[in-house]
Amino acid sequence: MIIVTRPGITEAELDHIRERIEQLGMRTHISRGEHRTVIGCIGDETVLREAALLSIPGVESVTPVLKPYKLAAREFVAAPTVVQVGDFVGASFGGRELAVIAGPCSVEGKDMLRTTALAVRSAGARLLRGGAFKPRTSPYAFQGLGRAALRMLADVRAETGLPVVTEVMDPRQVETVAEHADVLQIGARNMQNFSLLSEVGRVQRPVLLKRGLSATLKELVMAAEYIMAEGNRDVILCERGIRTFETATRNTLDVSAIPVLKADTHLPVIVDPSHAGGRASLVMPLAFAAIAAGADGLIVEVHPNPEQAMSDGDQSLTPAAFADLMHGLRAFATAAGRTLPSAAEATVAA
Ligand code: PEP
Ligand code: MN
Repeated sequence: MIIVTRPGITEAELDHIRERIEQLGMRTHISRGEHRTVIGCIGDETVLREAALLSIPGVESVTPVLKPYKLAAREFVAAPTVVQVGDFVGASFGGRELAVIAGPCSVEGKDMLRTTALAVRSAGARLLRGGAFKPRTSPYAFQGLGRAALRMLADVRAETGLPVVTEVMDPRQVETVAEHADVLQIGARNMQNFSLLSEVGRVQRPVLLKRGLSATLKELVMAAEYIMAEGNRDVILCERGIRTFETATRNTLDVSAIPVLKADTHLPVIVDPSHAGGRASLVMPLAFAAIAAGADGLIVEVHPNPEQAMSDGDQSLTPAAFADLMHGLRAFATAAGRTLPSAAEATVAA
């Protein structure tokens, strides 16, 4: 149930409404907008039906939320959520400026990580990605450097000023990964690992939640709801391609996911054109499409020498190709009413 208050409501009136709802056994979530305050009520809605809520001073309207998710629902908050990563300049998702995360699929060593970080930073990326724990289809494939990679990521952050985005695969790793990383990535294969979702919901780090390979958008948003229900409201949704009958590309980028998620939720939405297309040559057109459709940012795989990459080399851009992508993106950003930091701005800020 959503309660919208009258403009100019006093704090005492607001407190009274909240107390009344909580007395009825529901939890409340207050969202203050410029003109109105929205009170989301979570719990058994049947008790509210008889509660004469419209008679409480300051209440303007009472509307049931028909969607199965509440905290992530657009109706639930007064303004779109902007997720700010720590106090890193430009590392925010959902504002006017687009945020681009770039880096290798896997952290393979300190030198390659540092080289990549410097290159992507100077091209305008605001955050560094790099897998330490890798979810590989084969148990015999490279599984990532684990804790050693986390330390490398933290060292390179100290050197470059770029905040770190890395995947956490297991609830038991959440604390350690959160000590080193600035954004916790939940991979596509773990989108419905509910104990992992709840665990990242209890830490104070933004979460990048990737859509499962065969997940509907409703399932993606319900996964976000798991995280938010534990108290962590800083969730960034990521469309990374889904499995369809088409085999020409690694996955099928669901462009329509972007406007649908933006309309139904208040959360920022970014796109991963690398895992969607599965080939370096597809990254640029898919990235352009994503920004044109309203995405708030991108996550892109970049490797100093893709042919030597230990994972996802086929879809990794060279630093030069990444710089070209960022250059080409500018016109699409402008057309979509968004901005991108110039390469020089990004370097100075970091
Ligand atoms: C990744 O970002 O390297 C990754 C494994 O992505 P996904 O979970 O989307 O497959
Ligand atoms: Mn990858």
